[in-house]
Amino acid sequence: MKPNKPNLAELADKIRRNLGYSQAGPISFADLCDRNRNLTIVERPFSENTSGMCVKDGSEGGIIAINSTMALGRQRFTLAHELYHFYFSNNPFIICPDEEDNAKTEDERNANFFATHFLMPTPSFIAYFEDVCGASISIDTILKMEHYFQVSRRALLSKFCSLGYLSQEEKEKFLVNIVRTASEKGYPKDLYVAPNNPQQITYGKYVALVGEMFEKGFISKQKRDELLLDAYRDDIVFPTQEGE
Ligand SMILES: [Zn+2]
Repeated sequence: MKPNKPNLAELADKIRRNLGYSQAGPISFADLCDRNRNLTIVERPFSENTSGMCVKDGSEGGIIAINSTMALGRQRFTLAHELYHFYFSNNPFIICPDEEDNAKTEDERNANFFATHFLMPTPSFIAYFEDVCGASISIDTILKMEHYFQVSRRALLSKFCSLGYLSQEEKEKFLVNIVRTASEKGYPKDLYVAPNNPQQITYGKYVALVGEMFEKGFISKQKRDELLLDAYRDDIVFPTQEGE
């Protein structure tokens, strides 16, 4: 499917609905693979120029990989961006550069637009801005909203700009001292700061399929363990007392 730009917001709403998310409020990605059983998600470090990738398997399935060295806000944006590729891009293998603000191809721009709307649907964004924040743009509003929607500062400000609440010039003044201001106001830093120990984990269809193939006798225990270790699932191969 090749969506036209005006339809991207509708498509984001549709995918939100199809995945069983409400049309309002923030998205939790914790159970995304339960919501679409054809999806495998890999979180692992990539080079700093790559935010993520999407590989489709020719049927309904696919793998989305996220660069886990990036801050949480960026990782969530990447996941929403890759969902666009998973559902709508024609290319079955896409590596996405880190271009949240200035994507070079139309497909990348569409994926960014989709991600922005997927994470912050316009009606719910405006309602929160007006009802909870008194329709006033200040550092307190910005902090409150980016932590509510769990998005990066850049993503939040771009949304304000696209709705005409903020000019590009005004946007710049909120892009300095982000971490210090958030900390001083009592907010956690993980939305903005790269994690100390980036995740390496795979979840979703791949892991379930490996288990199923072993249960049905198609692969040996050794092969199962090998496949799980390739997917950074040593926690399943070597379960600890605590994890049981
Ligand atoms: Zn992309």
